[in-house]
Amino acid sequence: MADFDFDLFTVGAGSGGVRAARLAGALGKRSALAEEWTVGGTCVHRGCIPKKFYVFASHFADDFEDAAAYGWSVDGVRFDWPTLVAAKKKELKRLEGIYEANLGKAGVEILRGRAVLEDAHTVRMGEKTFTAENILIATGGRPYMPDIPGAEHVITSDEVFDLAELPRRLVIAGAGYIALEFACIFRGLGADVTVVYRRTGVLRGFDEDVRKAVQEGMEAKGIRFVFETVFEKVEKGPDGLAIHLSNGDVLPADQVLMAAGRQPNTEGLGCEKAGVELGVGGAVVVDAHLRSSQPNIFAVGDVTHRINLTPVAIHEAMCLIDTLYKDNPRSPDHEHIPTAVFTQPPVGTVGLTEEEARAQFEQVDIYRARFRPLKHTITGREEFVMIKIVADRVSDRVLGVHMVGLDAGEIIQAVAIAVKAGVTKAQMDATMAVHPTTGEELVLMYTPVS
Ligand code: FAD
Ligand code: NDP
Repeated sequence: MADFDFDLFTVGAGSGGVRAARLAGALGKRSALAEEWTVGGTCVHRGCIPKKFYVFASHFADDFEDAAAYGWSVDGVRFDWPTLVAAKKKELKRLEGIYEANLGKAGVEILRGRAVLEDAHTVRMGEKTFTAENILIATGGRPYMPDIPGAEHVITSDEVFDLAELPRRLVIAGAGYIALEFACIFRGLGADVTVVYRRTGVLRGFDEDVRKAVQEGMEAKGIRFVFETVFEKVEKGPDGLAIHLSNGDVLPADQVLMAAGRQPNTEGLGCEKAGVELGVGGAVVVDAHLRSSQPNIFAVGDVTHRINLTPVAIHEAMCLIDTLYKDNPRSPDHEHIPTAVFTQPPVGTVGLTEEEARAQFEQVDIYRARFRPLKHTITGREEFVMIKIVADRVSDRVLGVHMVGLDAGEIIQAVAIAVKAGVTKAQMDATMAVHPTTGEELVLMYTPVS
């Protein structure tokens, strides 16, 4: 066997790369991990974690109002953006330190800088080259920026967390996860927010009842939607930015956020030199065992551009380590992946939408409930919960559960275990309710609505 510098060379220290490199190191493999930005990757530094901090921060606006309805005096509260940004930075620094320490304990060599593939076994970092028996591409993705005049005035999710000032007026393009989560964050923090989307309706691909409930909930909070419209150009003037829309309108703004999806990070990575085939949008094409077209090069996470979520990248990394080093070939399981959109109201969903179920099953039963949660009977807040169960009438199996409203993300995690385990509607009905909770409705919907 050729004498390589490393057993596994991982490019990219995000959710997938860190897990794979650490597990390989812990198994006694010579494991190297290259990172050009910050250890932890998108989720820790520019994604899930800071996003969730900002979701918490923005919620206090409603919480203070609700507290007053319950008898608390909350006069004189105010929000300071720089305090939030500084608190976020401090915590992310701490997390980065923990990641680095754990990698160190597992004997992983962290290499700082950009890594480029030279051939199937060689990686270049600046002047240095390293060889490895196996290479893992875990380079993630980056925000997609359409080519519009004035794009230099437009920010993406990479910049939004560290703005010098809280924008008073924010215009957002797109109606997917990032657009809607940041619309709610900034609205909660007091900004005037407009979402501009090229089609009609938000969260394309989600269940129709979810889509409607989220849009209504966001509109009730004062977020404006402009549908069937795209940005034509963005101009900078003395009073801020002017966004020219394809419908002829011009929107004034302090910041413009492009949230039009993400693209795999493979540009200039040397995939052609290493014999790694790229597919649509530059995604690394992998087989069921995460192997690329080059037999000793693998890819996990967003760079494969399939289901771009942190738990999926981590799961794929764990499958790969089992396959490579534990004599246990394992394909990632992409079925029944639960997901949450941390909008206000939040979304939690797992399994098939009603539309998908009707396309795949002859007879589908739909159970749906819409109600005001107990908390808001006193606050009077016009906020509702929508819970929907999609079941196959023949087998009685629950095919999908969709929820919009209070704690949806937390509740769906538990429901997903049951759905993954093949729960039937009768088993849900036989489960005792926890009263009084929002989630109890899940086991109290006895009669289908259609
Ligand atoms: P990444 O985490 O993107 O890591 C890739 C790493 O590779 C990066 O650190 C990058 O700097 C490095 N890199 C790239 N090229 C090179 C190179 N040539 N040399 C060296 N280093 C390189 N998912 C959820 O599950 N829940 C959420 O709530 C959630 N919120 C999100 C919010 C936002 C704003 C965004 C943008 C994403 C969010 N995601 C969320 C998605 C989640 O962040 C990604 O799915 C996850 O980070 C993918 O992990 P990864 O390891 O594939 O890539
Ligand atoms: P999404 O794919 O969720 O949404 C992209 C949005 O941009 C869609 O509304 C899309 O429209 C629109 N769009 C695409 N191209 C253009 C264009 N050229 N001009 C105008 N609009 C356009 O991507 P995001 O960027 O919101 O997020 C990326 C991924 O990160 C998510 O898919 C998700 O996997 C992950 N993520 C997960 C989160 C979570 O788990 N809570 C939070 C944030 C991100 P159309 O519908 O017409 O295609």
